[in-house]
Amino acid sequence: MQKRIVSIIVLLFSTTLLAAQQYDLVIAGGRVVDPETKLDAVRNVGIRGGKIARIATSRLSGRRVIHASGLVVAPGFIDLHQHGQELESQRLKAFDGVTTALEMELGVPDVAQFLKWKEGHSLIHYGTTASHAAARAAAFGAPLSSAVTDPRVGIPEILPKSGPATNQPATPEQIRQIQQRLRDELDAGALGIGMGIQYTPGATRLEVIDMFRVAAERKVPVYTHIRSFGRSEPDSAIESVEEVIGAAAITGASLHIVHINSTCLLDSLECLSLIAGARARHLDVTTEAYPYTAGMTVLNSALFNPGWREKLGIEYGSLVLPGSGEHLTKERFEELHNSPVPQSVLMFANTEEMVDATIPNPLIMIASDGAAGHPRNAGTYARVLAQYVREKKTLTLMEALRKMTLMPAQMLERSTPAARHKGRLQEGADADVVVFDPQTISDRATYEKPMEPSVGVHYLLVGGTVLIDDGKLVPDVFPGREVLGQGKALAGKNQ
Ligand SMILES: [Zn+2]
Repeated sequence: MQKRIVSIIVLLFSTTLLAAQQYDLVIAGGRVVDPETKLDAVRNVGIRGGKIARIATSRLSGRRVIHASGLVVAPGFIDLHQHGQELESQRLKAFDGVTTALEMELGVPDVAQFLKWKEGHSLIHYGTTASHAAARAAAFGAPLSSAVTDPRVGIPEILPKSGPATNQPATPEQIRQIQQRLRDELDAGALGIGMGIQYTPGATRLEVIDMFRVAAERKVPVYTHIRSFGRSEPDSAIESVEEVIGAAAITGASLHIVHINSTCLLDSLECLSLIAGARARHLDVTTEAYPYTAGMTVLNSALFNPGWREKLGIEYGSLVLPGSGEHLTKERFEELHNSPVPQSVLMFANTEEMVDATIPNPLIMIASDGAAGHPRNAGTYARVLAQYVREKKTLTLMEALRKMTLMPAQMLERSTPAARHKGRLQEGADADVVVFDPQTISDRATYEKPMEPSVGVHYLLVGGTVLIDDGKLVPDVFPGREVLGQGKALAGKNQ
């Protein structure tokens, strides 16, 4: 009898011990790369409760084991610049290795509504900035529509049509209203202030500074598409970079300049030298680029106010409609620019040489500016890994991954402490993990077929949930969670 009790105790003890060592999931034998600690070695990764619980050379036991030998195991990519928040775009992001995709450039018209829509319907993590353009449109009595009935298929209106709300200066009273709207949106959970200054050319230099003041007061960054592109003065790209660096210096707000490639174009390296100079003077200024020569925007926006051909140095024929491939004429341009219906358009204005020179620059984070119609939506991250790491060898794997994971996480940390657990493959970090084959990862999307998913991502984990399993999307799982600014927590405490 006593012997039996002893053996039961031993049995109980060993099952408890086994349970303690048992992980939900183990990724075994992959090449684990972490850009912060610079770990690049074969390891076993144990995941439990949505977190990376253990990274070890010893064997780990898990309820499920993914064998990853020959594959890279890296933090899931963080895209700071993703407009397409509907499911079809999210599916493409997942195949491109992205586990967090945020709308930071422009923001959405209604942060609370956006977060509510996305909850429980998102494949990957999501979040947004407060929209200066939308707050301005509201102050002018022409609010943007956030009326998307189903966030799984549509996205809210993020760009205003060119008109008084974009082209006229705001009164002091309107500026106060815009500032208050931005504060309210930060209280609702926005991650910063998004300013597409080129889309609101009526905003004076002082209005821009006043918006940066709100960001400084709330200790959140300003993400901005700068005022202009091209070389002609005034309003050159150089002056536009100066404007926002000036506003950051004056107010103390952190600044992130989006897609330096597509606004600075042939002056991209000069623009990067301005940012390097500002950083050397201890200003918090960061930037990003995507690996394509064409940009994409909306034809009836203020970006196409008179003067765009001179600034961009292109003609109507360099504007191409996605899908049909139609090259515009003057007449067709006028028709679509004056239409109330927003129409996406590709703009071929940069060179391959300039993109190739920009992407490897150490100040550049990778961000896609993704939306349906442009291959960057689907292929940005795989394209960098294929073209710059594997083929041209102008980036090391570690450096490319730093641009896709750690750098955006460090940017996000300015407004959300939760980001300290993202962009890292370390014990205690969130289990947002991409497992890909460095020999085969490639983009497939083209200007003609922009919705082709990338290949080479074998597994993708979002918060510990397997979203891509052996190269296939797992149906009916929505592991994406909101990424919130601190405003929401602080606003909650004050109530
Ligand atoms: Zn933009």
